[in-house]
Amino acid sequence: MTEQKQDPYLDEREKMIQQQIAARGINNPRVLEAFLRVPRHEFVPAALRDEAYADYPLPIGEGQTISQPFIVALMTQALALEGEEKVLEIGLGSGYQAAILACLAKEVFSIELRPSLAREGEKKLKELGFFNIQVKVGDGSLGWPEKAPFHAIIVTAAAPQVPPPLLEQLTEGGRLVIPLGPRGRQNLLRITKRKGELVKEDLGACVFVPLIGEYGWKD
Ligand code: SAM
Repeated sequence: MTEQKQDPYLDEREKMIQQQIAARGINNPRVLEAFLRVPRHEFVPAALRDEAYADYPLPIGEGQTISQPFIVALMTQALALEGEEKVLEIGLGSGYQAAILACLAKEVFSIELRPSLAREGEKKLKELGFFNIQVKVGDGSLGWPEKAPFHAIIVTAAAPQVPPPLLEQLTEGGRLVIPLGPRGRQNLLRITKRKGELVKEDLGACVFVPLIGEYGWKD
């Protein structure tokens, strides 16, 4: 009989899902299943592994962060993915959010401004067997016109305005989730394109690192 290697963080991952995510109202079973599947501890720096399942964001280098698990879950559920979608992420960072999306959609495209994070995140995703994710280095506030349109777009850095190219690259019925507002405090918005109209919903307060780029902050 082959001996199965037990994931030493499985208990902590299950606790994170129950106590931080499900307890706060995230109830989509596919979303909860994705959080169980993705080993969050693989996406944080080795020295912080034991904190990977804690209820806060963690540094990932270059002054950037992997978001708090609940915020990742809230944004993911808001995208309402059913499995056949093409999704765009702005801000690959560690690659964790992209891995979650890859469990829930057909194809994921992710843009990361900082080359070293893009390189490391992409390497990690390949190592873990996530092959339906394409990564590129660049300014995500411009979107990825060659791959558009997208059924869902998630911006994981704080923007001062909704970048117009992202709205243009959204399908009819598509959902854009984005932290919007000044540096230091934003509101998470879901914008749905319905018959050419933009329907906006406020999902609550949040704090993200800034989106830097043409339709983001300048530095
Ligand atoms: N989604 C990430 C994860 O799962 O680890 C967390 C992202 S972190 C909060 C924000 C990321 O956005 C940083 O990696 C930062 O370099 C990136 N970023 C900032 N401005 C950007 C832009 N214009 N285009 C693409 N990425 C950008």
